[in-house]
Amino acid sequence: MGDTLFAKIIRREIPADIVFEDAHVLAFRDIHPQAPVHVLFVPKRPIATLDDLQPGDAELAGRLLLAAADYARREGFAEAGYRTVINCNQDGGQTVYHIHLHLLAGRALHWPPG
Ligand code: 5GP
Repeated sequence: MGDTLFAKIIRREIPADIVFEDAHVLAFRDIHPQAPVHVLFVPKRPIATLDDLQPGDAELAGRLLLAAADYARREGFAEAGYRTVINCNQDGGQTVYHIHLHLLAGRALHWPPG
């Protein structure tokens, strides 16, 4: 896959408000937040879309989910609730082709989404 905006953020070539990092995952605030809390959890290894995940990526996919859930607990909004979203390809609304998990919280989120 080509070099993406998120690869540049991971390499610190573009600034971002980073809220979590470990050896596998980087998390930073979305530049156009859709809720009071809107954080993107991104694997450091570039995978373009959810459709590109392979069985060997199962651990990495789990790490993204666990990093988001841990963050929600740490920040104190897990009990109130939150939403995680992975947009895939054009109809899913994906605009950056480096897989990422959106974490949205801080207000009541309606369902179904538009
Ligand atoms: P997608 O639409 O691919 O699921 O999500 C991409 C997200 O990246 C969007 O919510 C968008 O606001 C966010 N985004 C786009 N450019 C930047 C940027 O330069 N910095 C940050 N922090 N987020 C960005």
